[in-house]
Amino acid sequence: MTNYEYAEVIIDISLNSLDRPFSYHIPDALRDKLEIGMRVVVPFGQGNKPRKAYVIALREDTDYDPSRVKDILEIAKDAVSMEEKQVELAAFIRKNYGGTMNQALKVVLPAKATVKQLTFRQIVRNMSREELISLKGEAIRKHRNAQLRLLDALLEQEEIPYEWVTGKLGVSGQTISSLEKSGALKINTTTEYRNPVHVNAGEDKRLQLSDGQRFIVEEIDKDINEGKAGKYLIHGITGSGKTEVYMELIEKVVARGQQAIFLIPEIALTYQTLMRFFKRFGNRVSVLNSMLTPGEKYDQCMRAATGEIDIVIGPRSALFVPFPNLGMIVIDEEHEASYKSELTPKYHAREVAEHLAQTSGAALVLGSATPSLEAYYRAKSGEYRLFELKERLTGGSLPVVSVVDLRDELKAGNRTIFSRRLQALIKDRLYKGEQSILFLNRRGYSGFISCRACGEVIKCPHCDVSLSEHYGNKMVCHYCGYETVKPTLCPSCGGKYLAAFKAGTEQIEEKLKEMYPDVKVLRMDADTTKTKDSYEKILSAFANEEAQILIGTQMIVKGHDFPKVTLVGVLAADLSLNVSDYRAAERTFQLLTQAVGRAGRGTLPGEAVIQTYKTDHYAVKLSALQQYEEFYEEEIAYRDMLGYPPVAHMLAVQIFGPDKDKAEKLAGDLALAARQDGKCAILGPTAGIVSKVKDLYRFVVYAKATQYSELVALKDMLEERLKANPPQKEYIQFDFDPINTL
Ligand code: ADP
Ligand code: ZN
Repeated sequence: MTNYEYAEVIIDISLNSLDRPFSYHIPDALRDKLEIGMRVVVPFGQGNKPRKAYVIALREDTDYDPSRVKDILEIAKDAVSMEEKQVELAAFIRKNYGGTMNQALKVVLPAKATVKQLTFRQIVRNMSREELISLKGEAIRKHRNAQLRLLDALLEQEEIPYEWVTGKLGVSGQTISSLEKSGALKINTTTEYRNPVHVNAGEDKRLQLSDGQRFIVEEIDKDINEGKAGKYLIHGITGSGKTEVYMELIEKVVARGQQAIFLIPEIALTYQTLMRFFKRFGNRVSVLNSMLTPGEKYDQCMRAATGEIDIVIGPRSALFVPFPNLGMIVIDEEHEASYKSELTPKYHAREVAEHLAQTSGAALVLGSATPSLEAYYRAKSGEYRLFELKERLTGGSLPVVSVVDLRDELKAGNRTIFSRRLQALIKDRLYKGEQSILFLNRRGYSGFISCRACGEVIKCPHCDVSLSEHYGNKMVCHYCGYETVKPTLCPSCGGKYLAAFKAGTEQIEEKLKEMYPDVKVLRMDADTTKTKDSYEKILSAFANEEAQILIGTQMIVKGHDFPKVTLVGVLAADLSLNVSDYRAAERTFQLLTQAVGRAGRGTLPGEAVIQTYKTDHYAVKLSALQQYEEFYEEEIAYRDMLGYPPVAHMLAVQIFGPDKDKAEKLAGDLALAARQDGKCAILGPTAGIVSKVKDLYRFVVYAKATQYSELVALKDMLEERLKANPPQKEYIQFDFDPINTL
């Protein structure tokens, strides 16, 4: 029996002005049942319309006239109660990333419950093994990861409980029914509960840990045993045994009676990885991914809350699974941009995980082959403990990389985009019948101007990012709005060829066909992948060796291994280097490292050529040498000098609106208010890089500060202003330490 009389609730409505706690009286009938985190129905507004709301606090009294405080009507029928901890996590997200409490609660709250099933379903194999294997080939080529997991499972056994497939394999009902339609499986439904088939994941093969692996496991375990669970970063190339380390650590966590969350980017969620976990942890593991329906997700959350599972694997959102006694959070590939939410609240999973680990007394383990500057910076400053794994445990060698200076090509009279060295190697591969990938990293390409003779790029004198070409011969900085007239001669060498980099993938394809008329070329870029499955068609054609050369943008860097590819050419490394974004070098380093790693995945040794105007740029030089540490030192010095994250912090306030003048005026007002506040350095407003998305004009005001908390205070101030004086059609988004400024 509690003696709480009143509850504070957040109304489930997307109106900024109503996003504050409202007081309600708890009727006697609900007194014993009501808990923080529950969804209730309350009378709201003039007409006392019933509205859903979340209970975020319970109190003995109220600040309002008790005779005017209304009664809660009931606990919502689809009641999903959150843990109090979840409400706290939502509050943390709201505070640090902006948006409303309602939006933040939606991020952490398990979705609505489904009606409980009274039937039991079995998935039964309905094809021969040969037919399944051919379907599997198709699923691989089409990057249908979930389908692939189910097909692999069906190959291993003929009957599988439906819930095991949605629950354990993270395969959605939709994927199951599409395979049902294609005749691969049948679904048998019974109303009686049958003993679930024991799903045989196979024997867990224990590996003898290497000295490096054992050291990491022992050190972290020692900390946890001494009650000093900390934060750790494991820096190790692909294949160096990180996943094995995570599993050992998680095993110890579970043995202590605690639970673990394992975050992994969706693209890396393969059957093989999942099976490694099932073999070790059996039924105590579950998968959560974006393909599951809300009902399927909800089931997983409930199984976690009731102690049915100890481990959950999944992307970003798996962080919010309500474990009662969380012992560890692991984030694999922590540098991946997908850990940051693109929707308000734009939270970063790494930072939310840090907070969650801290408040739960859990350990946080991050891993990557190319750690984010954020993580490495914290490792260097002692906030994270750094471990390194330097050897590849599976053999295989890294490709030989050469860097070609495009300035020398021009001097030698070669005006094509293919350097002499690259031409020679392409010819060699065509002769040998091996495949090549040509990569044009146009990502975020935003019209910078460079000199063809010396490679000089016109930059903002204040922000040290490249200026973008605008109409009317203007050059503009997207951070601070600095504007200048486009020069006619190169300010560095006086050269006359000062132009935007024009070569696109299409011109490259034409040129290639001109040079080698018989060669079969595939091209993958935004133009050739407009229709739904064109992306998959191109990849599968290349995998089937229907072409010798694949040309593409960054789309081709990630994803599948092509064992026959022995040559990777990066046509113009400068393209991603000169993007007007302070993360350009970091992204280039990651892209080049990944691109180079595409060559020689099979048994044949690989070679890579990086063409650039900036052979001396550290991101180019050091990615060719695979020297992360040296890259970090250079890059952090730059961030430090210009006050960019992670050394300092940055907030992008984005203003969207259908009317250009009104949006611009609001942006100007907010910038002025921020400047008068005087605590942070304010840049802009400037028109966003994609200045008119979906018929909305976009303006951006940037704020910089040494302390994150100063930016949070600025955001609070701006939010208050907007609440007091709500704009009519404009809306605002906050993006802290933005990853994508485009
Ligand atoms: P990462 O996560 O760093 O890519 P994994 O843990 O997946 O590395 O290991 C890569 C490969 O090496 C896997 O096939 C794994 O089975 C194998 N491996 C890992 N640890 C060991 C070990 N101690 N001895 C032998 N093989 C190992
Ligand atoms: Zn500038």
